[in-house]
Amino acid sequence: MSEYFNYRDDTLHAEQVSLADIAQCFGTPCYVYSRAALTDAYQQFADALKGREHLICYAVKANPNLAILNLFARLGAGFDIVSGGELQRVLAAGGAADKVVFSGVGKRDDEMRLALSAGIRCFNVESEPELERLNEVAGSMGKVAPISLRVNPDVDAKTHPYISTGLKQNKFGVAYKEAIDLYRKAAAMAHLRVTGIDCHIGSQLTEVSPFMAAAEKVLALVDQLNAEGIQLEHIDLGGGLGIRYDDETPPAIAEYAQALLQALHGRAESLIVEPGRVLVGNAGILLTRIEYLKHGEEKNFAIVDAAMNDLMRPALYDAFHAIRSVKKNAVSMQVYEVVGPICETGDFIAHARGMAVAQGDVLAVMSAGAYGMSMSSNYNTRPRAAEVMVDGERTHLVREREMTEQLYALEKIID
Ligand SMILES: *Cc1c(COP(=O)(O)O)cnc(C)c1O
Repeated sequence: MSEYFNYRDDTLHAEQVSLADIAQCFGTPCYVYSRAALTDAYQQFADALKGREHLICYAVKANPNLAILNLFARLGAGFDIVSGGELQRVLAAGGAADKVVFSGVGKRDDEMRLALSAGIRCFNVESEPELERLNEVAGSMGKVAPISLRVNPDVDAKTHPYISTGLKQNKFGVAYKEAIDLYRKAAAMAHLRVTGIDCHIGSQLTEVSPFMAAAEKVLALVDQLNAEGIQLEHIDLGGGLGIRYDDETPPAIAEYAQALLQALHGRAESLIVEPGRVLVGNAGILLTRIEYLKHGEEKNFAIVDAAMNDLMRPALYDAFHAIRSVKKNAVSMQVYEVVGPICETGDFIAHARGMAVAQGDVLAVMSAGAYGMSMSSNYNTRPRAAEVMVDGERTHLVREREMTEQLYALEKIID
């Protein structure tokens, strides 16, 4: 999983800090991030790409906690955002607007204005009507919007269908064969400036070949554009590199980066990448306590205090997360369904896991740093979990546990 979460004397630690102590001090459920793991993942990317002009735009939606954004900003990162809210977060965390790229199929006028006022690096435009809208909005502000087109290269990312984005039938990007025509239109619009090209084919990819297939198609467009006199400043090859949750064997960051560099060899444009999951996924875990062990007729249930509202990936994608006991227990091993308290059969964290556990034990749900807290909700009026960042021997609460009153503070009873 990660070298930053290890057992010492039978107790699982994040860096130098006992996760049992964190559970005791901050309660459960609680997300715990390792600063060293976050830094290490970012640094691997930066090291692999040094020697070529590049910008690593962290995909904010993977985990938007301000402490994480601030850490990456200080390491030199830019950001890939998909909403005006994410832009506000980036700015609040000390991120630089001119290192922000704005993706997403449904950008609203107000979000465009926010991004134009802030002065972002580039809008990744995903349709012709969006191109026209952005031209109008920029014109009304007396500004020129830097744009790239997000091209749909129609390649199979070979990942879960819900996180595959680069196929013809997906809603993302502009159709490959319409791209050149749209670039011509964009180049002729008074309030747009064509600066790049972009693609993003999906998430949790565990092979290099789909990335290469996409890059090849994007670069063929770049050549055509050059032939028409449209010169680009950057090529954005998106994010999507997978991590190991179970027994997957995704390419190492260095291997992936090397392949991108090779594909771009001899080209002058700078490279933008938009990694999300690979920077944060294995840098975080979710702590949860076993409330009850329930021995049913057919199955044993470990009913824990984290649920699908805290970690949606198992319910949404049938995703696998490894589970570790925070303190090794001498009781006998049994096979459990690990489930939350929510009234949905889909509310499970893991199926059929052998665990030597007792009621009250604390479990660590591993690889929960990406699309964990960011996808959480208040379903069943459950306050969202606390978030803690460990840094060596130190522990920082980076998001307080929500209070129940906050969940209905905006509501009103009528006469
Ligand atoms: C989600 C997303 C990413 C990041 O994907 P990961 O799989 O987390 O690396 C990058 N770019 C865009 C446009 C996205 O929507």
